[in-house]
Amino acid sequence: MTLIVKKFGGSSVATPEKIVNVARRILQEKKDGERIVVVVSAMGDTTDELIDLMKSVNDRPNGREIDMLLSTGEQVSIALLAMAFARLGHPAISLTGAQAGIATTVQHNKAKIQRVEPGRILAELAKGQIVVVAGFQGVNAAGDITTLGRGGSDTTAVALAGALKADACEIFTDVKGVYSADPRLVPRARKMQEITYNEMLEMARLGAVVMQPRSVEMGKSYGVPIHVRSTFTSEPGTYIREEYTMEEREFVVRGVAHDLNVAKLAVLGVPDRPGIAYKLFSALANANIDVDMIVQSIRNADKNINDILFTVSQQDLPRAREIVEHTAKELGALGVVADENVAKVSVVGAGMLGSPGIAAQMFGALADAGVNIEVISTSEISISCLIRADQVKEAVNSIHSRFFPDK
Ligand code: ADP
Ligand code: ASP
Ligand code: MG
Repeated sequence: MTLIVKKFGGSSVATPEKIVNVARRILQEKKDGERIVVVVSAMGDTTDELIDLMKSVNDRPNGREIDMLLSTGEQVSIALLAMAFARLGHPAISLTGAQAGIATTVQHNKAKIQRVEPGRILAELAKGQIVVVAGFQGVNAAGDITTLGRGGSDTTAVALAGALKADACEIFTDVKGVYSADPRLVPRARKMQEITYNEMLEMARLGAVVMQPRSVEMGKSYGVPIHVRSTFTSEPGTYIREEYTMEEREFVVRGVAHDLNVAKLAVLGVPDRPGIAYKLFSALANANIDVDMIVQSIRNADKNINDILFTVSQQDLPRAREIVEHTAKELGALGVVADENVAKVSVVGAGMLGSPGIAAQMFGALADAGVNIEVISTSEISISCLIRADQVKEAVNSIHSRFFPDK
């Protein structure tokens, strides 16, 4: 019997009317005998509001309590959606992440799904219920609620689809699919019919928030095809899968991504000798802080000192700064500078490795827009530049028009 997992993001369930509309749409599209699991996020900006609430009580709360608070957002949505189904005459049951069998690693705020025990979901489906599962949350071995990082409901949906061997995994959101750039920033961005897991994963890692990176990784490892589509229209969206099946690969560059959730830290004047970078970055790794772009440059060759510059996410900045200031003192560095007014713009495309002109074209587009490049980094399938945050819109539009000229 067919089983479909459908995920609705925050803006799709932002108001009581939208919640009823989601229930109505699911029932209208549901075929007889089809089993449906719905994953929902917190209503609208609830998660941001909960974070503000938390900061007004304590600006450095403990991870366990953060998860206890943030997970409540999704609990509101699941109960309301189950009630909406009941009102429309279809049996439904809401389940928290723990009740749905989502077992995660121990660490709070960024937990990873380790296992899904789908027994309860399957039993409820067998009774003819629509099962509504809270996204973004799970339970760890200590029995505590964990959350999966911002955008984590995508990962809940894909993990469930994998564990339940679902026939389809649909991600409903406030745009019509995956575009060649964020359509809110680039009005000319093109909707893709399909994109590979690898290219989507790179776009997501580089800031395309339409899918949480971890969800794409899961889709790839469990072979779950993902369909990203609009909550508000019924037209097909974008399929994320292993290989291209229909679209002509017209462009080497597949998409342009941007990320404003970036902060730059520079450690100035560190001694130029073995072990320095190890000391600095292992201290950050021990605190579970992801470091992204890294550059070391010579500050003064005579004095044998360097500057080391790197980026972290904005939420990690206060802790990273503390750790780096401490280590910098130990190393006898000249000082530490932090800068939050930066952003990263990137181009992504699997064919890039064999096309040498891509970087030059990207830098040319940035020069045309009068944008200065502070740091450059590359991977096999992407090139990224760190720029001033207030120039993101011009930068992304200029790069996009360079690689996707109007037909
Ligand atoms: P949801 O609440 O449904 O999870 P998100 O806000 O997390 O929605 O993700 C959808 C948003 O992702 C869109 O509104 C869009 O602004 C943004 N986005 C960024 N890059 C892209 C892209 N390449 N294609 C589509 N959407 C993108
Ligand atoms: N509500 C969570 C967030 O805002 C999870 C999600 O929406 O996917 O990040
Ligand atoms: Mg999201």
